Amino acid sequence: MVRARAWMNTLRTASDGENMTRVLAVANQKGGVAKTTTVASLGAAMAEKGRRVLLVDLDPQGCLTFSLGQDPDKLAVSIHEVLLGDVEPSAALVPTVEGMTLLPANIDLAGAEAMLLMRAGREYALKRALAKVSPDFDVVIVDCPPSLGVLTLNGLTAADDVIVPLQCETLAHRGVGQFLRTVTDVQQITNADLQMLGALPTLYDSRTTHSRDVLLDVADRYGLVVLGPPIPRTVRFAEASASGSSVLAGRKNKGANAYRALAADLLKHWKSGKALSTFTPEV
Ligand code: ADP
Ligand code: MG
Repeated sequence: MVRARAWMNTLRTASDGENMTRVLAVANQKGGVAKTTTVASLGAAMAEKGRRVLLVDLDPQGCLTFSLGQDPDKLAVSIHEVLLGDVEPSAALVPTVEGMTLLPANIDLAGAEAMLLMRAGREYALKRALAKVSPDFDVVIVDCPPSLGVLTLNGLTAADDVIVPLQCETLAHRGVGQFLRTVTDVQQITNADLQMLGALPTLYDSRTTHSRDVLLDVADRYGLVVLGPPIPRTVRFAEASASGSSVLAGRKNKGANAYRALAADLLKHWKSGKALSTFTPEV
């Protein structure tokens, strides 16, 4: 029976790429580059389009969990117990007001990092957990913590694709080389199928030449694809994270629309292999 079901799943995946669950990691070891904002906003945009979306909080700070209206300190179970194999992933899932599902995190996850280090197959804990729930979702988006430790390695190992948000300010390039080396290591060791989709310019200020110069420099230095449209800096994002829902739920704004455009692009890319839109700043 179980085997028959597994076989039907294989058949479904093989015959219909559209039904395959896609796992996207959003990662950069720098804090404050809009990883969490990108995860919440892209997820909400895909949910608006009728996709079943699971968001995974892999950061012990629990910012994604908090920004989606959950109190990280009051969770009965969280991703911590799931990664250690003590709780079934389905038992830790919570719904969000925007129709998404969240696998939440809190500070306990800082302990999971140390516990995982003592286990065999530690990079695969998230991949194993997601295998049990991902058939219920079209898209899984993973919010990685600001480090290149075992949690980020779990995120990259579980993912089909990765996006690196880049805040276009001075020194944005610091750490990008190290991040790309980590992606290459993962591709060589734990996840040969991982695709680096490119850098996403965030907190972008098109009125100054500074954002543009930084972006051109980083793209050039590392041969990175720059995804478009860039996400403009707007005050709406700070308002949204305090409100318990993503920026898409609030009043109309340019930031939300940029995320909607990127979401539409990603869905087309996954459905038909269409190339993602790229962005070249005008010189
Ligand atoms: P990370 O997860 O990489 O640490 P966050 O998503 O938490 O980054 O974003 C860091 C801060 O920047 C937050 O206060 C967030 O509200 C703010 N922010 C993110 N994107 C934007 C934007 N496009 N415009 C203005 N503020 C933003
Ligand atoms: Mg974050």
